[in-house]
Amino acid sequence: MKLVLIGAPGSGKGTLAGKLVKALNIPAISTGDLLRESIKAGTEIGLEAKKLMDKGILVSTEIIFEMLKERLKKDDTKNGYILDGFPRTIDQAQLLDDYVKLDLCLYLNVDKDKIVQRLTGRRTCKNCGASYNTELHSNDKCDCGGELFIREDDKPEVVAHRFDVYSNQTAPLIDFYKNKGILKVVMGQENPEDTFKKAMELLK
Ligand code: AMP
Repeated sequence: MKLVLIGAPGSGKGTLAGKLVKALNIPAISTGDLLRESIKAGTEIGLEAKKLMDKGILVSTEIIFEMLKERLKKDDTKNGYILDGFPRTIDQAQLLDDYVKLDLCLYLNVDKDKIVQRLTGRRTCKNCGASYNTELHSNDKCDCGGELFIREDDKPEVVAHRFDVYSNQTAPLIDFYKNKGILKVVMGQENPEDTFKKAMELLK
């Protein structure tokens, strides 16, 4: 199954993707994570991308799509995959459409107030990249023992900008996939387990 997750930043795509990976036994591929790996590795692309990412600005489609295609060539994608963070614009969706035939797009619908609260309370592990919310996790350590920090792009002023980018450039994908007849909507307001159960119902 080839699946795309769309939703505002902080709608819980990463969390849902993690649960779907286990249930469907296919990998989740996050373009944000691919970029963060390049930053960690200190590549030129990573360093250039970081300047944009820290401000919540989209990185060039050319760079992202090349990275994604490389990742999709790996063996673990042969039974399908879950894309998280790509596509983010209509141009990217069209490129992807010419490259693969998707089975489904799951749109994670969450109110803006909830999203802002989730993003500003998000803490990310320096070691493994797992994320937590301060409301549910008061500890400053990850379960893996790594230190938790606030991502530069989870700071309030950047969150507001990322939300604008989402509304203007990514939200039109909802109609794009609706018109292709592969859109399903998951209400993601509740806890991660309920959202996951609803998503699994839609995947049946
Ligand atoms: P994410 O982890 O998905 O929230 O992505 C973090 C940042 O990485 C975004 O704010 C963008 O700067 C960049 N990014 C991730 N995916 C894409 C994409 N498909 N197109 C352009 N920029 C992206």
